[in-house]
Amino acid sequence: MQLIMLGAPGAGKGTQAAKLAKKFSIPQISTGDMFRAAVKDGTALGKQAKSFMDAGKLVPDEVTIGIVRERLGKDDCANGFILDGFPRTVEQADALAKILDGLGKKISCVPNIHVPAEDLIERAVGRRICRQCGATYHVKFHPPKVDGVCTDCGGELYQRADDNADTMKNRLSVYEASTRPLIDYYKAAGVYVEIDGTQSIDKVTEDLLNVLTSVQ
Ligand SMILES: [Zn+2]
Repeated sequence: MQLIMLGAPGAGKGTQAAKLAKKFSIPQISTGDMFRAAVKDGTALGKQAKSFMDAGKLVPDEVTIGIVRERLGKDDCANGFILDGFPRTVEQADALAKILDGLGKKISCVPNIHVPAEDLIERAVGRRICRQCGATYHVKFHPPKVDGVCTDCGGELYQRADDNADTMKNRLSVYEASTRPLIDYYKAAGVYVEIDGTQSIDKVTEDLLNVLTSVQ
């Protein structure tokens, strides 16, 4: 099962990808993980990527695509994978289709964990994080027992500077603009599915599994 997970920042895409990866025993692959692994393994492409990252530059598409090709050809991807954060553009989606074609595979499904922007902003603005253990809370949806104090370890809770409405609005409009063409691309390919991400984590997983039983 070859999946591409889509979802705005804070929609719960990473959480769901991790649950599906476990359920189907297939790797969850993020662009960051792929870069780190290629750099660590010291592959030619990894060295190229590192030279761009060290210079604070964006890794060019041909290097990124090469790293994706290497990663998806590995044994643990034999039964499928879940891509998280790639492709980001239609050009990358085309390149991915060619890579998969070469492996005799295709994209099975592209679930989009959809949450309306106003809900994502509310999630971000209410988020609190423990300074000691990193546990996350939400003032409304998952409050600690005592205001401002971590229920797990007693540490102080704080609000991240970028968890505010203006920053979130900006991030979401950037995400929306860059993802819209990908949604259209995978709709046209007949593999796009929108999942209601406003539900509980378990209900979102259930909806995903219901969709995925009908694809391979
Ligand atoms: Zn804590």
